[in-house]
Amino acid sequence: MELNKCSRCGNFYVSNTNVCPKCSAKDNFEFSNFKSYVQENGFENSLNTISNETGITVQNLNRFLEYEDFQNFQKTLGNLN
Ligand SMILES: [Zn+2]
Repeated sequence: MELNKCSRCGNFYVSNTNVCPKCSAKDNFEFSNFKSYVQENGFENSLNTISNETGITVQNLNRFLEYEDFQNFQKTLGNLN
């Protein structure tokens, strides 16, 4: 079993998720807010602006960009255009 360090709270945890179980509800919530934001506004604003408007920290936004889910999501958006 591999020990991961949670990128939100810094706790160690054993599972294959992006963040620890304690943070996963908040992380999913913010991630889906971020996706709705991008769906409505596109992805042209800077991360600082997105952060101000969504209340999600730039650090977390940067992590979301690397989520495989987000890359799939962007492909979906690309297909709609
Ligand atoms: Zn955590």
